[in-house]
Amino acid sequence: MTADARYGALQLFVDGRWLDAGDRVTEDVINPATGEAIGAVPHAGRDDIEAAAQAAERAFRPWKALPAYDRAKILRKAADLMRERVETIAVRMVLEQGKPILEARQEVMAAADIFDWTADEGRRTYGRIVPSRVPGARWMVTKEPVGPVAAFTPWNIPVIIPARKISAALAVGCTMVIKPSEETPASVLEIARALDDAGLPKGVLNVVYGVPAQVSQQLIAHPAIRKITFTGSTGVGMQLARLAAEAGVKRATMELGGHAPVLVFEDADLDHAVRSMVAAKYRNAGQVCVSPTRFYVHESLHDRFVESFASAATAIRVGDGLDPATGMGPLANTRRVAAMERLVADAVGRGARLAAGGERGANRGSFFQPTVLADVPVEAQAMNEEPFGPMAITSRFSSFDEAIGQANRLPFGLASYAFTTSSRTAAMVADALEAGMVGLNNNFINMPETPFGGIKQSGYGSEGGTEGMDAYLTTKFVSQT
Ligand code: NAD
Repeated sequence: MTADARYGALQLFVDGRWLDAGDRVTEDVINPATGEAIGAVPHAGRDDIEAAAQAAERAFRPWKALPAYDRAKILRKAADLMRERVETIAVRMVLEQGKPILEARQEVMAAADIFDWTADEGRRTYGRIVPSRVPGARWMVTKEPVGPVAAFTPWNIPVIIPARKISAALAVGCTMVIKPSEETPASVLEIARALDDAGLPKGVLNVVYGVPAQVSQQLIAHPAIRKITFTGSTGVGMQLARLAAEAGVKRATMELGGHAPVLVFEDADLDHAVRSMVAAKYRNAGQVCVSPTRFYVHESLHDRFVESFASAATAIRVGDGLDPATGMGPLANTRRVAAMERLVADAVGRGARLAAGGERGANRGSFFQPTVLADVPVEAQAMNEEPFGPMAITSRFSSFDEAIGQANRLPFGLASYAFTTSSRTAAMVADALEAGMVGLNNNFINMPETPFGGIKQSGYGSEGGTEGMDAYLTTKFVSQT
Protein backbone atom coordinates (compact mmCIF):
# COMPACT_ATOMS: atom_id res chain seq x y z
CA MET A 1 0.00 0.00 0.00
CA THR A 2 1.30 3.50 -0.88
CA ALA A 3 0.01 5.58 2.01
CA ASP A 4 -0.38 9.30 1.31
CA ALA A 5 0.63 11.46 4.28
CA ARG A 6 -2.04 14.05 3.39
CA TYR A 7 -4.77 11.44 3.67
CA GLY A 8 -4.66 10.74 7.44
CA ALA A 9 -5.58 7.64 9.42
CA LEU A 10 -8.89 5.85 8.90
CA GLN A 11 -10.78 4.77 12.00
CA LEU A 12 -14.23 3.86 13.27
CA PHE A 13 -16.00 6.30 15.62
CA VAL A 14 -18.12 4.47 18.17
CA ASP A 15 -19.52 5.82 21.44
CA GLY A 16 -17.17 8.80 21.34
CA ARG A 17 -14.08 6.62 20.82
CA TRP A 18 -11.82 6.56 17.78
CA LEU A 19 -11.05 2.93 16.96
CA ASP A 20 -7.99 1.91 14.95
CA ALA A 21 -8.00 -1.04 12.57
CA GLY A 22 -6.28 -3.29 15.13
CA ASP A 23 -7.03 -6.85 14.05
CA ARG A 24 -10.14 -5.86 12.09
CA VAL A 25 -10.49 -6.64 8.38
CA THR A 26 -9.43 -3.65 6.26
CA GLU A 27 -10.22 -2.54 2.73
CA ASP A 28 -7.90 -0.45 0.55
CA VAL A 29 -9.03 3.03 -0.47
CA ILE A 30 -7.98 3.91 -4.01
CA ASN A 31 -7.07 7.34 -5.40
CA PRO A 32 -9.04 7.35 -8.68
CA ALA A 33 -6.56 9.73 -10.31
CA THR A 34 -3.70 7.25 -9.95
CA GLY A 35 -5.29 3.88 -9.24
CA GLU A 36 -3.05 3.57 -6.17
CA ALA A 37 -4.05 2.70 -2.61
CA ILE A 38 -3.83 5.67 -0.25
CA GLY A 39 -5.13 4.11 2.95
CA ALA A 40 -7.08 1.20 4.39
CA VAL A 41 -10.48 1.52 6.01
CA PRO A 42 -11.27 -0.79 8.94
CA HIS A 43 -14.45 -2.86 8.74
CA ALA A 44 -16.62 -2.84 11.84
CA GLY A 45 -17.27 -6.31 13.22
CA ARG A 46 -20.71 -7.37 14.43
CA ASP A 47 -19.67 -6.33 17.96
CA ASP A 48 -18.66 -2.85 16.77
CA ILE A 49 -22.02 -2.39 15.03
CA GLU A 50 -23.87 -3.60 18.12
CA ALA A 51 -21.84 -1.18 20.25
CA ALA A 52 -22.64 1.69 17.86
CA ALA A 53 -26.39 0.97 17.92
CA GLN A 54 -26.39 0.68 21.72
CA ALA A 55 -24.41 3.91 22.04
CA ALA A 56 -26.92 5.72 19.83
CA GLU A 57 -29.73 4.34 21.99
CA ARG A 58 -28.07 5.35 25.29
CA ALA A 59 -27.25 8.83 23.98
CA PHE A 60 -30.76 9.44 22.61
CA ARG A 61 -32.67 10.46 25.77
CA PRO A 62 -30.10 12.95 27.12
CA TRP A 63 -29.53 14.41 23.64
CA LYS A 64 -33.27 14.79 23.09
CA ALA A 65 -33.57 16.41 26.54
CA LEU A 66 -30.84 18.96 25.77
CA PRO A 67 -32.53 22.21 24.69
CA ALA A 68 -32.43 22.72 20.92
CA TYR A 69 -30.64 25.99 21.69
CA ASP A 70 -27.68 24.03 23.15
CA ARG A 71 -27.72 21.40 20.42
CA ALA A 72 -27.52 24.23 17.88
CA LYS A 73 -24.44 25.68 19.60
CA ILE A 74 -22.54 22.40 19.11
CA LEU A 75 -23.61 22.10 15.46
CA ARG A 76 -22.62 25.70 14.75
CA LYS A 77 -19.23 25.19 16.42
CA ALA A 78 -18.70 22.10 14.25
CA ALA A 79 -19.57 24.17 11.16
CA ASP A 80 -16.91 26.73 12.13
CA LEU A 81 -14.34 23.97 12.61
CA MET A 82 -15.14 22.55 9.17
CA ARG A 83 -14.56 25.99 7.67
CA GLU A 84 -11.23 26.33 9.52
CA ARG A 85 -10.20 22.88 8.26
CA VAL A 86 -11.49 23.31 4.72
CA GLU A 87 -8.12 22.72 3.06
CA THR A 88 -7.32 19.49 4.94
CA ILE A 89 -10.80 18.10 4.36
CA ALA A 90 -10.91 19.13 0.70
CA VAL A 91 -7.52 17.54 -0.07
CA ARG A 92 -8.61 14.26 1.59
CA MET A 93 -11.84 14.33 -0.40
CA VAL A 94 -9.97 14.81 -3.70
CA LEU A 95 -7.53 12.02 -2.86
CA GLU A 96 -10.31 9.49 -2.26
CA GLN A 97 -13.01 10.75 -4.65
CA GLY A 98 -11.24 12.57 -7.47
CA LYS A 99 -13.24 15.81 -7.87
CA PRO A 100 -11.39 19.09 -8.57
CA ILE A 101 -10.07 20.80 -5.44
CA LEU A 102 -12.24 23.87 -6.07
CA GLU A 103 -15.39 21.72 -6.03
CA ALA A 104 -14.15 19.94 -2.90
CA ARG A 105 -13.60 23.26 -1.09
CA GLN A 106 -17.06 24.44 -2.17
CA GLU A 107 -18.54 21.18 -0.89
CA VAL A 108 -16.97 21.61 2.57
CA MET A 109 -18.16 25.23 2.81
CA ALA A 110 -21.65 24.24 1.64
CA ALA A 111 -21.75 21.48 4.28
CA ALA A 112 -20.82 24.02 6.97
CA ASP A 113 -23.63 26.23 5.69
CA ILE A 114 -26.05 23.27 5.91
CA PHE A 115 -24.97 22.70 9.54
CA ASP A 116 -25.62 26.36 10.38
CA TRP A 117 -29.04 26.38 8.73
CA THR A 118 -30.28 23.14 10.26
CA ALA A 119 -28.89 24.10 13.69
CA ASP A 120 -31.05 27.22 13.62
CA GLU A 121 -34.06 25.48 12.09
CA GLY A 122 -33.89 22.87 14.87
CA ARG A 123 -34.57 25.74 17.31
CA ARG A 124 -37.76 26.50 15.38
CA THR A 125 -39.31 23.05 15.61
CA TYR A 126 -42.68 24.27 16.81
CA GLY A 127 -45.86 22.35 17.43
CA ARG A 128 -49.30 23.84 16.99
CA ILE A 129 -52.44 24.53 19.01
CA VAL A 130 -55.68 23.47 17.33
CA PRO A 131 -58.86 25.21 18.57
CA SER A 132 -60.88 22.53 20.31
CA ARG A 133 -64.52 21.71 19.52
CA VAL A 134 -64.93 20.22 23.00
CA PRO A 135 -65.58 22.86 25.69
CA GLY A 136 -62.65 23.12 28.11
CA ALA A 137 -60.33 20.92 26.06
CA ARG A 138 -56.86 21.93 24.90
CA TRP A 139 -55.66 20.36 21.68
CA MET A 140 -51.91 20.37 21.11
CA VAL A 141 -49.79 18.97 18.29
CA THR A 142 -46.19 18.36 19.34
CA LYS A 143 -43.11 17.26 17.40
CA GLU A 144 -40.64 14.78 18.83
CA PRO A 145 -37.40 13.28 17.49
CA VAL A 146 -38.04 9.86 15.96
CA GLY A 147 -35.09 8.20 17.75
CA PRO A 148 -31.75 6.67 16.74
CA VAL A 149 -31.27 6.77 12.95
CA ALA A 150 -29.31 4.43 10.64
CA ALA A 151 -27.87 6.39 7.69
CA PHE A 152 -26.20 5.08 4.54
CA THR A 153 -24.39 7.48 2.20
CA PRO A 154 -22.62 7.10 -1.15
CA TRP A 155 -19.22 8.01 -2.57
CA ASN A 156 -20.14 10.74 -5.04
CA ILE A 157 -20.72 13.70 -2.68
CA PRO A 158 -19.07 12.39 0.47
CA VAL A 159 -19.41 15.50 2.65
CA ILE A 160 -22.66 17.26 1.67
CA ILE A 161 -24.86 14.15 1.59
CA PRO A 162 -23.84 12.99 5.09
CA ALA A 163 -23.94 16.62 6.33
CA ARG A 164 -27.60 16.92 5.33
CA LYS A 165 -28.55 13.76 7.20
CA ILE A 166 -26.36 14.24 10.27
CA SER A 167 -27.16 17.91 10.85
CA ALA A 168 -30.95 17.64 10.47
CA ALA A 169 -31.17 14.50 12.63
CA LEU A 170 -28.96 15.89 15.39
CA ALA A 171 -30.57 19.35 15.34
CA VAL A 172 -34.00 17.95 16.23
CA GLY A 173 -32.66 15.58 18.90
CA CYS A 174 -32.03 12.28 17.09
CA THR A 175 -28.84 10.24 17.39
CA MET A 176 -27.27 8.35 14.48
CA VAL A 177 -25.16 5.46 13.29
CA ILE A 178 -23.89 6.28 9.81
CA LYS A 179 -22.26 3.92 7.32
CA PRO A 180 -20.73 6.06 4.59
CA SER A 181 -19.22 4.55 1.46
CA GLU A 182 -16.08 2.50 2.05
CA GLU A 183 -14.68 4.11 -1.11
CA THR A 184 -14.65 7.62 0.44
CA PRO A 185 -14.31 7.04 4.19
CA ALA A 186 -12.14 10.01 5.24
CA SER A 187 -14.67 12.70 4.33
CA VAL A 188 -17.32 11.73 6.89
CA LEU A 189 -14.69 11.11 9.56
CA GLU A 190 -13.80 14.81 9.21
CA ILE A 191 -17.42 15.78 9.98
CA ALA A 192 -17.38 13.45 12.99
CA ARG A 193 -14.07 14.93 14.12
CA ALA A 194 -15.45 18.47 13.90
CA LEU A 195 -18.50 17.45 15.95
CA ASP A 196 -16.33 15.60 18.48
CA ASP A 197 -14.07 18.64 18.86
CA ALA A 198 -17.14 20.87 19.16
CA GLY A 199 -18.23 18.93 22.26
CA LEU A 200 -20.78 16.46 20.89
CA PRO A 201 -21.71 14.05 23.70
CA LYS A 202 -20.44 10.52 23.14
CA GLY A 203 -22.72 8.16 21.23
CA VAL A 204 -24.78 10.88 19.50
CA LEU A 205 -22.97 10.19 16.21
CA ASN A 206 -21.28 6.89 15.39
CA VAL A 207 -19.43 6.10 12.14
CA VAL A 208 -18.91 2.51 10.97
CA TYR A 209 -17.67 0.86 7.78
CA GLY A 210 -17.93 -2.70 6.54
CA VAL A 211 -19.56 -4.90 3.92
CA PRO A 212 -22.57 -2.71 3.00
CA ALA A 213 -25.17 -5.48 2.84
CA GLN A 214 -24.05 -6.94 6.18
CA VAL A 215 -23.95 -3.60 8.01
CA SER A 216 -27.33 -2.49 6.68
CA GLN A 217 -28.96 -5.82 7.51
CA GLN A 218 -27.70 -5.78 11.11
CA LEU A 219 -28.35 -2.09 11.74
CA ILE A 220 -31.81 -1.82 10.19
CA ALA A 221 -33.01 -4.88 12.13
CA HIS A 222 -31.58 -3.55 15.41
CA PRO A 223 -34.36 -2.73 17.88
CA ALA A 224 -32.70 0.58 18.85
CA ILE A 225 -32.93 1.94 15.30
CA ARG A 226 -36.17 3.83 14.56
CA LYS A 227 -35.49 5.44 11.19
CA ILE A 228 -33.51 4.63 8.03
CA THR A 229 -32.14 7.18 5.60
CA PHE A 230 -30.33 6.18 2.42
CA THR A 231 -28.86 7.94 -0.60
CA GLY A 232 -27.74 5.77 -3.50
CA SER A 233 -29.03 3.64 -6.32
CA THR A 234 -32.68 2.64 -6.77
CA GLY A 235 -31.76 -1.05 -6.61
CA VAL A 236 -30.14 -0.78 -3.18
CA GLY A 237 -32.91 1.59 -2.02
CA MET A 238 -35.49 -1.09 -2.78
CA GLN A 239 -33.56 -3.61 -0.67
CA LEU A 240 -33.23 -1.24 2.27
CA ALA A 241 -36.90 -0.18 2.10
CA ARG A 242 -37.82 -3.87 2.26
CA LEU A 243 -35.52 -4.41 5.28
CA ALA A 244 -37.06 -1.34 6.98
CA ALA A 245 -40.56 -2.71 6.48
CA GLU A 246 -39.60 -6.19 7.70
CA ALA A 247 -37.85 -4.77 10.76
CA GLY A 248 -41.16 -3.37 12.00
CA VAL A 249 -42.42 -0.80 9.49
CA LYS A 250 -39.53 1.52 10.35
CA ARG A 251 -39.68 4.95 8.79
CA ALA A 252 -37.42 5.54 5.81
CA THR A 253 -36.20 8.33 3.57
CA MET A 254 -34.95 7.16 0.17
CA GLU A 255 -32.95 9.52 -2.03
CA LEU A 256 -32.34 7.36 -5.11
CA GLY A 257 -31.20 7.64 -8.70
CA GLY A 258 -32.47 10.06 -11.32
CA HIS A 259 -32.13 10.62 -15.05
CA ALA A 260 -32.77 14.33 -15.34
CA PRO A 261 -34.42 15.63 -18.51
CA VAL A 262 -33.65 19.12 -19.84
CA LEU A 263 -36.21 20.68 -22.18
CA VAL A 264 -34.82 23.44 -24.40
CA PHE A 265 -37.73 25.24 -26.05
CA GLU A 266 -37.70 27.19 -29.30
CA ASP A 267 -37.63 30.55 -27.46
CA ALA A 268 -34.82 29.62 -25.03
CA ASP A 269 -31.73 31.75 -24.49
CA LEU A 270 -29.41 29.22 -26.11
CA ASP A 271 -26.10 30.60 -24.82
CA HIS A 272 -27.39 30.75 -21.27
CA ALA A 273 -28.81 27.21 -21.50
CA VAL A 274 -25.51 25.81 -22.79
CA ARG A 275 -23.37 27.70 -20.26
CA SER A 276 -25.38 26.72 -17.21
CA MET A 277 -25.99 23.12 -18.30
CA VAL A 278 -22.35 22.41 -19.28
CA ALA A 279 -21.30 23.55 -15.80
CA ALA A 280 -24.00 21.42 -14.18
CA LYS A 281 -23.39 18.37 -16.39
CA TYR A 282 -19.65 17.99 -15.83
CA ARG A 283 -19.57 19.02 -12.16
CA ASN A 284 -18.19 16.06 -10.21
CA ALA A 285 -17.72 14.33 -13.61
CA GLY A 286 -21.48 13.92 -13.88
CA GLN A 287 -21.65 11.69 -10.79
CA VAL A 288 -24.51 13.63 -9.28
CA CYS A 289 -28.06 12.34 -8.92
CA VAL A 290 -29.50 15.65 -10.23
CA SER A 291 -27.03 15.85 -13.12
CA PRO A 292 -28.76 17.06 -16.32
CA THR A 293 -28.58 14.15 -18.78
CA ARG A 294 -31.35 13.81 -21.38
CA PHE A 295 -31.40 17.00 -23.44
CA TYR A 296 -34.61 17.31 -25.47
CA VAL A 297 -33.99 20.27 -27.76
CA HIS A 298 -36.48 21.91 -30.11
CA GLU A 299 -35.69 20.86 -33.67
CA SER A 300 -35.06 24.49 -34.71
CA LEU A 301 -32.19 24.77 -32.17
CA HIS A 302 -30.94 21.21 -31.85
CA ASP A 303 -27.88 21.28 -34.11
CA ARG A 304 -26.67 24.66 -32.84
CA PHE A 305 -27.18 23.47 -29.26
CA VAL A 306 -25.14 20.29 -29.84
CA GLU A 307 -22.32 22.16 -31.58
CA SER A 308 -22.04 24.73 -28.81
CA PHE A 309 -22.38 22.16 -25.99
CA ALA A 310 -19.80 19.83 -27.57
CA SER A 311 -17.31 22.62 -28.05
CA ALA A 312 -17.66 23.73 -24.40
CA ALA A 313 -17.35 20.09 -23.23
CA THR A 314 -14.21 19.51 -25.29
CA ALA A 315 -12.62 22.64 -23.78
CA ILE A 316 -12.88 21.26 -20.21
CA ARG A 317 -9.46 20.38 -18.87
CA VAL A 318 -9.49 16.86 -17.46
CA GLY A 319 -6.86 15.90 -14.90
CA ASP A 320 -5.92 15.16 -11.31
CA GLY A 321 -8.30 17.01 -9.01
CA LEU A 322 -5.37 18.34 -6.96
CA ASP A 323 -4.10 20.33 -9.98
CA PRO A 324 -5.81 23.74 -9.62
CA ALA A 325 -6.10 23.99 -13.43
CA THR A 326 -8.30 20.87 -13.60
CA GLY A 327 -11.90 21.44 -14.65
CA MET A 328 -13.01 17.81 -14.35
CA GLY A 329 -11.35 15.01 -12.39
CA PRO A 330 -11.42 11.24 -12.87
CA LEU A 331 -14.54 9.17 -12.24
CA ALA A 332 -14.63 7.94 -8.66
CA ASN A 333 -14.08 4.27 -9.50
CA THR A 334 -13.37 1.94 -12.40
CA ARG A 335 -17.01 0.70 -12.47
CA ARG A 336 -18.13 4.07 -13.82
CA VAL A 337 -15.48 4.03 -16.62
CA ALA A 338 -16.64 0.60 -17.75
CA ALA A 339 -20.26 1.82 -17.66
CA MET A 340 -19.41 4.88 -19.79
CA GLU A 341 -17.68 2.74 -22.42
CA ARG A 342 -20.65 0.36 -22.55
CA LEU A 343 -23.19 3.20 -22.88
CA VAL A 344 -21.21 4.99 -25.61
CA ALA A 345 -20.74 1.80 -27.66
CA ASP A 346 -24.40 0.89 -27.33
CA ALA A 347 -25.65 4.37 -28.33
CA VAL A 348 -23.29 4.66 -31.31
CA GLY A 349 -24.19 1.12 -32.36
CA ARG A 350 -27.83 2.21 -32.47
CA GLY A 351 -27.12 5.24 -34.63
CA ALA A 352 -26.27 8.06 -32.20
CA ARG A 353 -23.61 10.57 -33.28
CA LEU A 354 -20.61 11.06 -31.00
CA ALA A 355 -20.20 14.86 -30.86
CA ALA A 356 -17.54 15.02 -28.10
CA GLY A 357 -15.36 12.69 -26.01
CA GLY A 358 -16.41 9.08 -25.74
CA GLU A 359 -13.12 7.60 -24.61
CA ARG A 360 -10.98 6.89 -21.56
CA GLY A 361 -8.74 9.87 -20.91
CA ALA A 362 -5.38 8.56 -19.70
CA ASN A 363 -3.36 5.40 -19.30
CA ARG A 364 -3.85 5.30 -15.53
CA GLY A 365 -6.61 6.39 -13.18
CA SER A 366 -10.36 6.36 -13.89
CA PHE A 367 -10.48 9.16 -16.45
CA PHE A 368 -13.17 9.53 -19.09
CA GLN A 369 -13.61 12.42 -21.50
CA PRO A 370 -16.53 14.86 -21.23
CA THR A 371 -18.92 13.24 -23.70
CA VAL A 372 -21.81 14.40 -25.88
CA LEU A 373 -23.97 11.97 -27.86
CA ALA A 374 -26.45 13.52 -30.31
CA ASP A 375 -29.69 12.11 -31.74
CA VAL A 376 -29.67 9.20 -29.33
CA PRO A 377 -32.50 6.75 -30.08
CA VAL A 378 -35.06 6.17 -27.36
CA GLU A 379 -34.12 2.50 -27.03
CA ALA A 380 -30.41 3.19 -26.33
CA GLN A 381 -29.30 2.09 -22.86
CA ALA A 382 -28.15 5.62 -21.98
CA MET A 383 -31.68 6.92 -22.59
CA ASN A 384 -33.05 4.47 -20.02
CA GLU A 385 -30.32 3.91 -17.41
CA GLU A 386 -28.76 6.66 -15.30
CA PRO A 387 -25.27 7.15 -16.80
CA PHE A 388 -23.89 8.68 -13.57
CA GLY A 389 -20.90 10.02 -15.49
CA PRO A 390 -19.78 12.83 -17.80
CA MET A 391 -22.31 12.11 -20.54
CA ALA A 392 -24.89 14.42 -22.14
CA ILE A 393 -27.32 12.84 -24.62
CA THR A 394 -29.63 14.71 -26.96
CA SER A 395 -32.79 14.20 -28.95
CA ARG A 396 -35.06 16.58 -30.92
CA PHE A 397 -38.70 17.45 -30.39
CA SER A 398 -41.23 19.49 -32.30
CA SER A 399 -44.14 19.97 -29.86
CA PHE A 400 -44.66 20.68 -26.16
CA ASP A 401 -46.58 17.45 -25.61
CA GLU A 402 -43.87 15.39 -27.29
CA ALA A 403 -41.18 16.96 -25.07
CA ILE A 404 -43.16 16.37 -21.87
CA GLY A 405 -43.98 12.81 -22.94
CA GLN A 406 -40.28 12.03 -23.40
CA ALA A 407 -39.26 13.77 -20.17
CA ASN A 408 -41.81 11.81 -18.11
CA ARG A 409 -41.27 8.50 -19.91
CA LEU A 410 -38.87 6.96 -17.35
CA PRO A 411 -39.76 5.58 -13.92
CA PHE A 412 -37.46 8.18 -12.29
CA GLY A 413 -38.50 11.63 -11.06
CA LEU A 414 -35.72 13.47 -9.26
CA ALA A 415 -34.51 16.67 -10.97
CA SER A 416 -35.70 18.19 -14.22
CA TYR A 417 -34.82 21.39 -16.06
CA ALA A 418 -36.34 23.56 -18.76
CA PHE A 419 -35.22 26.62 -20.68
CA THR A 420 -37.73 29.06 -22.16
CA THR A 421 -38.25 32.81 -22.19
CA SER A 422 -42.04 32.37 -22.15
CA SER A 423 -43.55 32.58 -18.66
CA ARG A 424 -46.59 30.67 -19.97
CA THR A 425 -44.43 27.76 -21.19
CA ALA A 426 -42.47 27.88 -17.91
CA ALA A 427 -45.67 27.58 -15.86
CA MET A 428 -47.01 24.77 -18.07
CA VAL A 429 -43.77 22.82 -17.90
CA ALA A 430 -43.49 23.23 -14.10
CA ASP A 431 -46.96 21.69 -13.79
CA ALA A 432 -46.38 18.90 -16.31
CA LEU A 433 -42.97 17.52 -15.28
CA GLU A 434 -43.07 14.48 -13.01
CA ALA A 435 -40.14 15.32 -10.75
CA GLY A 436 -39.33 16.34 -7.20
CA MET A 437 -37.39 19.41 -8.39
CA VAL A 438 -37.75 21.64 -11.44
CA GLY A 439 -35.07 24.17 -12.47
CA LEU A 440 -36.58 26.73 -14.86
CA ASN A 441 -33.81 28.61 -16.67
CA ASN A 442 -31.39 27.67 -13.88
CA ASN A 443 -29.98 24.82 -11.83
CA PHE A 444 -30.33 26.28 -8.32
CA ILE A 445 -32.16 23.30 -6.87
CA ASN A 446 -29.93 22.35 -3.98
CA MET A 447 -29.91 24.77 -1.05
CA PRO A 448 -30.04 24.14 2.73
CA GLU A 449 -33.39 25.92 3.00
CA THR A 450 -35.19 24.20 0.11
CA PRO A 451 -36.53 20.63 -0.11
CA PHE A 452 -34.54 18.09 -2.10
CA GLY A 453 -36.02 14.72 -3.00
CA GLY A 454 -37.61 12.62 -5.68
CA ILE A 455 -40.82 10.90 -6.72
CA LYS A 456 -41.52 7.62 -8.55
CA GLN A 457 -38.48 5.32 -8.34
CA SER A 458 -36.25 8.24 -7.34
CA GLY A 459 -37.47 7.68 -3.80
CA TYR A 460 -39.54 9.36 -1.13
CA GLY A 461 -39.05 11.96 1.57
CA SER A 462 -37.09 15.20 1.37
CA GLU A 463 -33.83 16.50 2.71
CA GLY A 464 -33.28 20.23 3.15
CA GLY A 465 -35.80 22.86 4.14
CA THR A 466 -38.40 22.34 6.83
CA GLU A 467 -39.33 19.11 5.02
CA GLY A 468 -35.84 17.78 5.75
CA MET A 469 -36.35 18.35 9.47
CA ASP A 470 -39.74 16.59 9.37
CA ALA A 471 -37.92 13.46 8.19
CA TYR A 472 -36.54 13.07 11.74
CA LEU A 473 -39.67 14.09 13.67
CA THR A 474 -42.79 12.30 14.77
CA THR A 475 -46.09 14.06 15.38
CA LYS A 476 -48.00 13.62 18.62
CA PHE A 477 -51.51 14.92 19.28
CA VAL A 478 -52.40 15.66 22.91
CA SER A 479 -56.02 16.27 23.94
CA GLN A 480 -56.27 17.62 27.50
CA THR A 481 -59.32 18.43 29.57
P1 NAD B 1 -24.34 0.41 -5.66
O1 NAD B 1 -25.73 0.57 -6.05
O2 NAD B 1 -23.90 -0.94 -5.22
O3 NAD B 1 -23.95 1.41 -4.46
C1 NAD B 1 -24.53 2.66 -4.26
C2 NAD B 1 -24.23 3.06 -2.80
O4 NAD B 1 -24.96 2.22 -1.93
C3 NAD B 1 -22.76 2.88 -2.39
O5 NAD B 1 -22.40 3.96 -1.56
C4 NAD B 1 -22.74 1.58 -1.60
O6 NAD B 1 -21.75 1.59 -0.57
C5 NAD B 1 -24.12 1.54 -0.99
N1 NAD B 1 -24.64 0.19 -0.83
C6 NAD B 1 -24.60 -0.82 -1.72
N2 NAD B 1 -25.25 -1.91 -1.25
C7 NAD B 1 -25.70 -1.57 -0.02
C8 NAD B 1 -26.44 -2.26 0.99
N3 NAD B 1 -26.88 -3.50 0.79
N4 NAD B 1 -26.72 -1.61 2.14
C9 NAD B 1 -26.31 -0.33 2.34
N5 NAD B 1 -25.61 0.37 1.43
C10 NAD B 1 -25.31 -0.24 0.26
O7 NAD B 1 -23.43 0.74 -6.89
P2 NAD B 1 -22.36 1.83 -7.25
O8 NAD B 1 -21.53 1.23 -8.33
O9 NAD B 1 -21.61 2.34 -6.07
O10 NAD B 1 -23.24 3.00 -7.85
C11 NAD B 1 -24.00 2.67 -9.00
C12 NAD B 1 -25.16 3.54 -9.19
O11 NAD B 1 -25.66 4.03 -7.96
C13 NAD B 1 -24.87 4.76 -9.99
O12 NAD B 1 -24.88 4.48 -11.32
C14 NAD B 1 -25.99 5.67 -9.58
O13 NAD B 1 -27.11 5.40 -10.37
C15 NAD B 1 -26.29 5.27 -8.18
N6 NAD B 1 -25.82 6.24 -7.18
C16 NAD B 1 -26.65 7.23 -6.84
C17 NAD B 1 -26.24 8.17 -5.92
C18 NAD B 1 -27.14 9.31 -5.53
O14 NAD B 1 -26.67 10.31 -5.06
N7 NAD B 1 -28.46 9.18 -5.66
C19 NAD B 1 -24.99 8.08 -5.35
C20 NAD B 1 -24.15 7.01 -5.72
C21 NAD B 1 -24.59 6.08 -6.62
